Amino acid sequence: MVPCGSCKLLRRRCRKDCIFAPYFPSNQPQKFAIVHKVYGASNVTKMLQEVPHHQRVDAVNSLVYEANARWRDPVYGVSGTVTYLQNQVSELQTQLAVAEAKILYFQMKYESMMLSPEIDTDEKSYFMQNDISQYISHDTSNNVNHNSFHKDGFPSFSNH
Ligand SMILES: [Zn+2]
Repeated sequence: MVPCGSCKLLRRRCRKDCIFAPYFPSNQPQKFAIVHKVYGASNVTKMLQEVPHHQRVDAVNSLVYEANARWRDPVYGVSGTVTYLQNQVSELQTQLAVAEAKILYFQMKYESMMLSPEIDTDEKSYFMQNDISQYISHDTSNNVNHNSFHKDGFPSFSNH
């Protein structure tokens, strides 16, 4: 019997009932290597034993993800990723609020202009063509770096 990725790394015989075998195949040795490095094999065994069978795939995926994050960023680990994404969300919420405020401002400006009799039609159409469209299409660029995610889904932290 070909040992699973875990037993191969631990240099032990892979039994028929090996708890790791379904989740750590021998062709992906790095998958077990990283969780073993961060948590230790016996802790991974204990954690898997506490999880019902149908949730073990998710548990293993989560352990691998978190171990990778811890390896990249030993201080913050996966919480660094969470903080990074939360900052990105609040930055985008701020940009959205600014954009909504601008739209509201120009809607009000436009409406008051349309209601005011002393402004002639030419000026109104000038405002419609230039002013609004200029401002609405102006601020579409944002400073969120779309390239900051690697293809494996982990954000990069340039200071590591
Ligand atoms: Zn095994």
